[in-house]
Amino acid sequence: MKRIALIGATGSIGRNTLDVMARSPDRFVLTVAAARQDDVGMTEICQRFAPARAILVDASAAARLRTRLTELGLETEVLSGADALVAAVADGAVDTVVAAIVGAAGLPSTMAAVAAGKRVLLANKEALVCAGELLIAAAAGSGATLLPLDSEHNAIFQCLPQDHTRPPRGVRRLWLTASGGPFRGMSRRALANVTTAQALKHPNWQMGPKISIDSATLMNKGLEVIEAHHLFGLPGAAIRVLVHPQSTVHSLVEYIDGSFLAQLGSADMRIPIAHALGWPERIDSGAPSLDLLALARLDFAEPDLDAFPCLRLAFAALDAGGTAPAILNAANEVAVDGFLNGDLSFVAIADVVNEVLNRLGTSSAHSIAAVLDADRAARDMAMQVVKGAVCG
Ligand code: NAD
Ligand code: MG
Repeated sequence: MKRIALIGATGSIGRNTLDVMARSPDRFVLTVAAARQDDVGMTEICQRFAPARAILVDASAAARLRTRLTELGLETEVLSGADALVAAVADGAVDTVVAAIVGAAGLPSTMAAVAAGKRVLLANKEALVCAGELLIAAAAGSGATLLPLDSEHNAIFQCLPQDHTRPPRGVRRLWLTASGGPFRGMSRRALANVTTAQALKHPNWQMGPKISIDSATLMNKGLEVIEAHHLFGLPGAAIRVLVHPQSTVHSLVEYIDGSFLAQLGSADMRIPIAHALGWPERIDSGAPSLDLLALARLDFAEPDLDAFPCLRLAFAALDAGGTAPAILNAANEVAVDGFLNGDLSFVAIADVVNEVLNRLGTSSAHSIAAVLDADRAARDMAMQVVKGAVCG
């Protein structure tokens, strides 16, 4: 029986993870469920899965949850605060942590799980973007197993040799596929007028709001390039991006002998989640089987870096190294919030990230404190830039 801590339980990855877990009740038990403030969603999770502990970071949401659970006669212990969350993932009562918080806010709990030597199923790509070297070194030190949930990285993991060397032996390049998002094929000019509702409407995947906007700007693919670099130990020059509108080939590994191995499947996050939850065994995901005959064709194209400059900015941040990826990520989080609130246009997201990267110098990312400092400075600067854009 695997004892799971699901961090970000009420979100899109959280709900998909619970769906897969419920299909194999003899294999998985939900020990800890954590989220920010959704007490209604957390109540439903507690009714269905009866975790030993439920954590809401927000104190008043946790108080509401406590009242609801008492009324329902449920025995789940309710905790609140970010410190409780960090302590719970490192606790001996848990052996597998699903890190599915959105944003750099997930870094402390992801790091705690890795440092405690847990099996960590990683959806929270922003943690790896900000502090990849530190997380990988911590995993090597503690013996933690990192299993990627991001569909592209999970695909690559499935296509790599099973001996898990870093970098993997015999690999020439990794090819990350990108759907191209809702605005694929549009020019930079045409993108000036797109709305939040249009940007949130991803053609192939149902996801949380932040990653949906990142998919529309291609920043998501940029973050994934950095994520792939850290997970698999290959340089940026050996990681390529392909636009593949069908989202059927989830990524590919090119070997030095000219072989390409790819993983294919329906565009359903339960597939990578089931792979990582069950690994090294295979378990039911509930995803529909892929109908290759109905699909008939697979298209691949170069990404348009003029229309979608965020991808270029991410490659540049990876090259610059140090705190540059943390700065890129923090500025992007603020800019995406600005766009979602209606304060910023879609094309201004890349402008804000670029401006913050240009204004802030990068330094060494030798400690979590240094990364968090860079994150804070970039957020402050990005908020000023967004304010300037709103007022100007
Ligand atoms: P979401 O917005 O649907 O859910 C986010 C979850 O994190 C919620 O449970 C929320 O309560 C929790 N959360 C947010 N801030 C928190 C904080 N400060 N402290 C504690 N909990 C907090 O997001 P999502 O789409 O599920 O994405 C989660 C992560 O997975 C992101 O890093 C995203 O890039 C990655 N990911 C998502 C998908 C997908 O299909 N949704 C695919 C690949 C990767
Ligand atoms: Mg992905």
